[in-house]
Amino acid sequence: MAVADNHAHVNEFTGLGPTEVARRFRRSGGRFMVVVSLLTWSLGLQPGEKASVERLYEYTVRSAARVRGEGVGSVAVVGLHPAECYRLVEMGWPIEKVEDFMRWAVDLAGRLIREGAAVGIGEIGRPHWPVPPEVRALCDRVMEYGIGIARDLDAVVHLHLEREGENTLLSVAEIARRAGARPYRVVMHHAEPSVVVGAWERGLVPSVPVGRRGEFEEAAGMGPMFVVESDFIDDNRRPGAVIPPWTMAAKLLRAVEQGRISGDFLRAICVDNMVRLYGDAAAPT
Ligand SMILES: [Zn+2]
Repeated sequence: MAVADNHAHVNEFTGLGPTEVARRFRRSGGRFMVVVSLLTWSLGLQPGEKASVERLYEYTVRSAARVRGEGVGSVAVVGLHPAECYRLVEMGWPIEKVEDFMRWAVDLAGRLIREGAAVGIGEIGRPHWPVPPEVRALCDRVMEYGIGIARDLDAVVHLHLEREGENTLLSVAEIARRAGARPYRVVMHHAEPSVVVGAWERGLVPSVPVGRRGEFEEAAGMGPMFVVESDFIDDNRRPGAVIPPWTMAAKLLRAVEQGRISGDFLRAICVDNMVRLYGDAAAPT
């Protein structure tokens, strides 16, 4: 039985860091973890500074390698979170300058993917809180650009989005269509159960947070049309913010033990669907 975490962050500056997180995850039955870029400032780096973005991506790539060093399969997904975009707007940057910077950050992610250091772009997308329409439009353009680059490289994209059900789903499906997204390459990170079926039917991959009460159970009732994530942020100052990957693994294995889901179901979401996204890297060894 192999549990896979589709979206986690690790941060040795505020929390346990990749090695200890991987050890705990492995001890609880975790076998594969996608390590996604944090925010520049969560690593003490500067938003809007290219050298900081380079270091953020390098840290993500190095963290995935350290997770693998503990016997847990891992890949890196690198990108600039929409909160970075918003922060630059707040700092007074003109919209065009922010857009150039965000596109540059997507291009840099593309370069790491071509070099084999990363497998995807993320998380990119829209803030989950209300923002002015021009900021949302800017985020949408960056998202479309990122999905297009991912399509060219046959890479995955992790999208950070607001959770507004059908509205979110339809708008993302439209952007993915315009960008020519490949099927089952665009991940809706932190997806609501209500969009699972609609997303999967449109070739998008909903990534359901196991830490949110009742959401995994609700999604599971619709069939294995999603992957699961902890969205761990590895920050000691915010201990209860999200479920740790090892708690997620224990929870899923307990659900199998107690017959609430079948072993086949767990394999479908943690192996088959993950292999569909990440290829052999996500296959159990
Ligand atoms: Zn995240």
